[in-house]
Amino acid sequence: LRYFVNHRLVEAQNGYIVELYLDQQLNEFSLEFLGLLKKGDIPQKADNLERAVEAYIKEKLPGLTVKAVNIMLGSLLLASIPISHLYASEKNAEKPGSVQSEKGGIGGVQESEEQELETPTPDIDASNEQASGKTDAELPSKSSAVTPTPGQPAISPNIISNPGAILVLVNKHNNLPSGYVPQNLVVPNVSFSFKEYDEKKQMRKEAASALEEMFRAAKADGINLYAVSGYRSYARQEAIFASNGRKYGLEKANQFSAKPGQSEHQTGLAMDITCTSVSYGLTQRFGSTKEGIWVKENANKFGFILRYQQGKESITGYQYEPWHLRYVGKEAAKEITERNVTLEEYLGAK
Ligand SMILES: [Zn+2]
Repeated sequence: LRYFVNHRLVEAQNGYIVELYLDQQLNEFSLEFLGLLKKGDIPQKADNLERAVEAYIKEKLPGLTVKAVNIMLGSLLLASIPISHLYASEKNAEKPGSVQSEKGGIGGVQESEEQELETPTPDIDASNEQASGKTDAELPSKSSAVTPTPGQPAISPNIISNPGAILVLVNKHNNLPSGYVPQNLVVPNVSFSFKEYDEKKQMRKEAASALEEMFRAAKADGINLYAVSGYRSYARQEAIFASNGRKYGLEKANQFSAKPGQSEHQTGLAMDITCTSVSYGLTQRFGSTKEGIWVKENANKFGFILRYQQGKESITGYQYEPWHLRYVGKEAAKEITERNVTLEEYLGAK
């Protein structure tokens, strides 16, 4: 059984970190592997995996000084294995999962994030932090004859070159660079669905001002909106996606939950909003409330679009999300709304 379909080299001190990409068709294996990581217990499957890693490196990368191996599923880091471990005679010395869980990645989901998972939201974040911004040459395997999962690239999507642009397009094909954190994050002065400070209250300054303006106008019309979730860091997205993957299976999870590097929330330009009649939840029912209808009709006047529209799932890659607002500026928002197109279509037409 061949586990890996591709690899990428990341320069490290005195050698390379090899990212090995799992065949996304191997859902069963991937899930089992995730499950094993969660339990912190890697018996038979891990041995198989290690043998597969050794075989891959021997065949494809002979003579290369390898420092560590990262096991990737798309942009999701499943495990990091120090190479010394692979060749150690003591197989039990260190478990592949332990490196990752110490970083708070897989298995490091906080209670508050689990809450969000009840009502899944898509997200985007930078890619693997260990790559630290380096996007070294990809070396696709010649023997790779795997059909990618429909609607998403199997491996290594484009890395966005203008992450700070207001009209930046982030989706399953276009990922934010690793470690990207927007400048000028502030907490908008609006009502939130919760009280305490949280990183996710933040947005970029221009988006925050626009949100304040929109919430004020809504209130004047008798519409009370509540902000739920704005900026989300890479690490947080990684934890959310891993948790959703465990809960729903990776394929299903990817329909509503973004992989790290693929969440629009990492731009600081997105905000999920809600209202009291849906109990502050992020649910499609929000779209039929008077608040949801007001937002659909008025958001564009303040520079926001409903990013994930009904009937556009095949273009955006995500289900209908009446609660997810994306700031694009007034001019673009007006045109996108009037033409009833997605950001993908709008930018493609430009
Ligand atoms: Zn969202």
